[in-house]
Amino acid sequence: MTARRLYGYRWQQESKSFLRRYPLCLRCTEAGIVRLSTVVDHCKPHHGDLALFWDATNWQALCKPCHDEKTLREDRGGKPQRERIGTDGYPIARKTGGDRGGMYDLKVISSLDRARSLSLSESPK
Ligand SMILES: [Zn+2]
Repeated sequence: MTARRLYGYRWQQESKSFLRRYPLCLRCTEAGIVRLSTVVDHCKPHHGDLALFWDATNWQALCKPCHDEKTLREDRGGKPQRERIGTDGYPIARKTGGDRGGMYDLKVISSLDRARSLSLSESPK
């Protein structure tokens, strides 16, 4: 599974060091809120595109609520009008189109969160 491989060991390492460099959620900071970032988000959805995926200029540090909110919006195709939503909560068009990056994101990010909270407990900050 491509997404599995993308979010593998190397991603864990790279995203962890990225979050160390950008410890605060970008969106919350813009809103004047100080909140720790826990997720490395792709500004432009990579959709499995390796170049986009590993392009650090396409990364931003977000907290989980901000990331989830952004992912939800991307799942709707970034359009204001709503798409048809399937019984599993995901837009039908996206599912049948075979583009399921967003779905993998959620699953992988939560395991990334867990990995990060483990690594946080060993860091002095
Ligand atoms: Zn945030």
